[in-house]
Order: sequence, then C-alpha cells, then structure tokens
Amino acid sequence: MASLQASRGTRDILPPEVQTWQAVEAEARLLLQQAAFQEIRTPLFEQTELFARGIGEGTDIVSKEMYTFLDRGERSLTLRPEGTAGVVRAYIEHGLAAQGGVQRLWYLGPMFRYERPQTGRQRQFHQLGIEVLGSADPRADVEVIALAIRLLTRLGLTDLKLEVNSVGEGVDRQHYREALVAYLEPHRDSLDTDSQKRLTQNPLRVLDSKDPRTQAIVANAPSLLAYLSPMAHQHLERVQQGLSDLGIPYTLNPRLVRGLDYYTHTAFEIQSEHLGAQATVCGGGRYDGLVAQLGGPHTPAVGWALGLERLVLLTQKQGRPAGRSLDIYMASRGPTAERQALVLAQVLRQQGWRIELDLSGSAFSKQLKRADRSGAPLTLILGEAEAQEGTVQAKWLTSGEQQLWHQADLLEGQTTLQRAFEEILSKP
Ligand code: ATP
Ligand code: MG
Repeated sequence: MASLQASRGTRDILPPEVQTWQAVEAEARLLLQQAAFQEIRTPLFEQTELFARGIGEGTDIVSKEMYTFLDRGERSLTLRPEGTAGVVRAYIEHGLAAQGGVQRLWYLGPMFRYERPQTGRQRQFHQLGIEVLGSADPRADVEVIALAIRLLTRLGLTDLKLEVNSVGEGVDRQHYREALVAYLEPHRDSLDTDSQKRLTQNPLRVLDSKDPRTQAIVANAPSLLAYLSPMAHQHLERVQQGLSDLGIPYTLNPRLVRGLDYYTHTAFEIQSEHLGAQATVCGGGRYDGLVAQLGGPHTPAVGWALGLERLVLLTQKQGRPAGRSLDIYMASRGPTAERQALVLAQVLRQQGWRIELDLSGSAFSKQLKRADRSGAPLTLILGEAEAQEGTVQAKWLTSGEQQLWHQADLLEGQTTLQRAFEEILSKP
C-alpha cells in the first residue's frame, strides 16, 4: 500500500515549530488586548455566495482559488479563503452595528486557497487579521497599520517595508479606471495573458501584475493619486500625518491597489526583504463599501490580514529566539528512586516549575544525554543511593556544576530552587 502523506499544499506543524507559532500568537494577543481588540471566531466554511459577493467575482481568489463543494443537501459551500467576509457576515447577522460605537475585532485561523504551493504559499495556510468597523476616521487606518508594525517589530523583525496608497472613493476610481484602460488598450498585445483578461474584467489589478513586461508598461501609466477627490486627498494626508507622528517610516506607492469597488481610501502592504518571491507579510486597507454590499447598514471599516506562515518563517530567520520551555529534567533509576522521582516531579509542577520526567528506566548516561538535548537548565538526578538518603543530585546544564540537595528542602517550598535558579542563571 502506498504510504499516506499530507495533502498537497498542506503541512504538519511539528512541536519545535509550534513553539514559534505560540510565541507569535502570544505576542499578538497581548498587543491586540492592549489596543482594545476582541477575538471573533467564525466558521471555516460559509455559503459560496458570501465570498462571491464579499471578495468579488473578478478576483483571483473567487475566479480560481476557492475550495467549493456541494454538501449532502446540495448546498454550495466554500472553505473560507480569507477572514473578512465571514467577520462582516457575523457583524451583520448579529446586529453588532446596532450596539453602536466602534467594533474592534481580530481573528486567527486556517484559510484555504487552491494555489500552486511554494515557499510561503500553501493551500491551507493561516492568517491573523483585524477589522475595525464603524469608524471613518483616518486615525483608525493609522491605528490599524501601527498595530501590524508594532507586532512585527516586537517579534524582532527588521528590514520591513511599508507601502501606502489611496484608491480614493467610488467616483475617483471610476475616472481613473477609464484613464487606465485608455492608456493600456494600445499595449494590450504586449501584456501578459492574465493582465489582458483583467483589462476587461478588473483593470486596476493590472497594476498588480508580477510580469516584468507588464510592469514596464505599467510604470508609465497614469497615477491614481492624480484622480483623487479633495476628500480622498485629505484622508490620505491625515493617514500620512498620523504615521509620521508615530515615527513609522513608509513609502507612497501609487500603483498599490485593491481592485474592488467596496475598497476605499487607504490601501497598504508590509513586505520583508527576507522572504524571496512571496514578500508580502501583511496587506490591508479601508473597505467602506463592504458591509452595505453584504446587506448591512452603511459602515466604514478598515483592517488587515497577516500571513502567519510567512511571519513564522521570518521569526525563525531573524526573530528573537523563543524563551526556554522546560526548567527541569528529571532522571531516575532504581525502584525506590523512580517512585520518589514521580512524587518530586508532581510537587515541583504544583510549585510552578516546568519539568519533564524521564520514563525510560535506562542507564543514567542515556538519560543525561536526553537531559542535555531537552534544553532544561537544570537536571535532577535520583539514584538508589540518593533515594535512601532523601537527597537528589542537581546538575546545571551550562556550567556542568553539580550540587547535592535534600529532597525535603525542595518539597517544602519554592525558595530553594528559586534561589538556585537565580544564582546560576545570573552568572554570565
Ligand atoms: P499574494 O500576493 O502573496 O498572493 P494576496 O494578495 O493573495 O497575496 P491577501 O489576500 O491580501 O494576499 O492575504 C494577506 C496575507 O496572507 C498575504 O500577504 C500573505 O502573507 C498571506 N497569504 C495569502 N495567500 C497565502 C497562501 N496561499 N499561503 C500562505 N500565505 C498566504
Ligand atoms: Mg494570492
């Protein structure tokens, strides 16, 4: 029988890597809480129509990347390719708008897109996303962008590039679209095939093309910024001002777009030099038209989504190393020693220590090798001699220093161990 493997475009995240994921998630939770964001959890599949309307028929996602299927009741369902549509559906369905004020929501979880798998691009991947619903204030855009930057920086990432643009309001874009099509039409035959299709369906997306020849043509296209209304200009200026006030460097990229009609004003992306071809870690912007598009009350909104696979790749490359996950490794050999070790480990855990008990019963030399590999700074060693005397050997990983302790001291309270840890680990 052929051996079974994870499906193409999916991967297992094994325990050592999960540590990085948890560190990233913990940092995100902390920062989001500080900024008064609340978590929302929506289903992994939704009616197909939600994504068709909420992401747009003319997009790559809807036209070729969705995992769509009929369930046993012949309903067309789709595994969510992104988070915003589901969040907005829930926002409308539960009348969150009626609660008034601004809703600050975040989500984290798997997304599904049928794409060609490569580094930083999978078919099941994970996004962390935030949505601020109910504010048209440019400061909301700034707050949202600043949160992404702060998260990435706190994780130790450098060489990030923030690009900002405005796609204006509906009418602005209508005029711009006409100008863009007029400019591109004579070059139609030189564009890549995808861009030729987009020229009719969703011309702004041509600006996004990765094809070098198309890019060269696009370089001389009219600039979106020239088509912004005074209102849109003012919004963009206030976003830029806010970013400067916070000391966040950015570049204005007039070719950065989000192609659909419900996108308004701010669009932005954060890229890293260290990701190769899949350079974008985070993308977002304002979508004042979406809630109404999905049947809710007119609600201005802004948000982003961040690709966690890419973020984890980056943290592994240049982030701060994760803190230690184990304090103590416990080795024991001999019937009495093994019984005592079981009790000692249990009591030390109750005191708050993270402790791994070696269950192998193998020679101490083997147990100590495993102790080294575990990364625990301290190994407690209990042989029959120690068991008879009620003592335990303490061996420190970095210095190799060994001490003899009384079990009673350890069982009594936390102070002995606490002091020993502080003393040893404070040495350079
Ligand atoms: P790309 O240009 O890389 O295809 P996108 O425009 O499709 O990105 P968004 O829909 O804006 O991406 O999603 C936000 C983020 O989610 C991306 O910046 C990226 O970090 C991540 N992401 C998107 N698709 C994938 C995927 N297939 N695998 C892994 N991460 C992804
Ligand atoms: Mg994509």
